[in-house]
Amino acid sequence: MEGRKLFCIAGPCAAESREQVLACARALKPMGVTAFRAGAWKPRTRPGSFEGIGGEALEWLSEVREAMGMPVAVEVATPSHVEQASRYGIDIFWIGARTSSDPFAMQELAEALRGSDRTVLVKNPISQDVNLWIGAVERILGAGITRCGAMLRGFTSSHPGKLRNDPGWHVAIDFRQRMPAVPLLCDPSHIAGRRDKIQEVAQLALNLAFDGLFVEVHTEPDKALSDARQQLTPEAFAHAIEGLETRARSRAAGEDLRLDALRAQIDDLDYEILSAVAKRMETVREIGRLKRSSNMSVLQPERWNAVLEGMKSQGSGMGLAPEFVEALARLLHSQAIDMQLKE
Ligand code: PEP
Ligand code: MN
Repeated sequence: MEGRKLFCIAGPCAAESREQVLACARALKPMGVTAFRAGAWKPRTRPGSFEGIGGEALEWLSEVREAMGMPVAVEVATPSHVEQASRYGIDIFWIGARTSSDPFAMQELAEALRGSDRTVLVKNPISQDVNLWIGAVERILGAGITRCGAMLRGFTSSHPGKLRNDPGWHVAIDFRQRMPAVPLLCDPSHIAGRRDKIQEVAQLALNLAFDGLFVEVHTEPDKALSDARQQLTPEAFAHAIEGLETRARSRAAGEDLRLDALRAQIDDLDYEILSAVAKRMETVREIGRLKRSSNMSVLQPERWNAVLEGMKSQGSGMGLAPEFVEALARLLHSQAIDMQLKE
């Protein structure tokens, strides 16, 4: 990769054993990463999954720091995590998406961090609420933390897409506009959820002028105890990073950047439209089954009329031309009728 120096934190999703941590750090050290990451406490959606080694992992991270001279990063979610990680000299604390979604937790963390000279990175909350994200960062800044960054890891989506999380690029673009002094990183691993898409997501982030990357790397990804599908081997990581193109933030590139930002927003919106249509069709199928079991005809002219008029009046309130809304409604309806006839 050429051009400006990229801030890049890499390492396994979780610290699993001393050997695994040291082997991964040893492989990453010559690649010139800015810092080494590994989770000690893992916030898992359901109980029963691997929830991290806990405090013991901090000893391994501090060994990486001392023996290899690499800054180290760990996720903190409670004041006790902050206290333990500070005691072990961990350089960078990141706050995960589940924690940044909770203002009470953020305030407690901010109080625990008050007076600390560590770098704190705040991931976006799980829902697309830029104010919640800004609020989380403001609590950290309000505690006097001067080295504070934000990180996009995507948003929980109710539709299975090609990526694990909905990237929500436009939320990061809004964040950047409202908090221009806060460096913005991208976590392509959690956005993609699969290794073959990580470079593509990272490239989009660079095109959108993100300041750095946060990438999950494991020496034996398939055996990882968490997030196995999205972790890269150190070699694949080096390859992905080398293949990235950086763009200068020059005046000439300004136009390009704006175009990329708008296109990313269009891609997000198209994805949302398609997902909503897919959900509508699923509901249509369900209605088709109900109509059949209750012996009702598929076409219900009054209902169709109400749907059409409702959409036209909602659409005109949104500034959409009535002919366009009508054409769209007819297209959706004819597909819905076809599907119900097959139920
Ligand atoms: C992580 O970085 O390992 C992590 C748990 O991230 P997130 O909060 O984005 O799910
Ligand atoms: Mn992970």
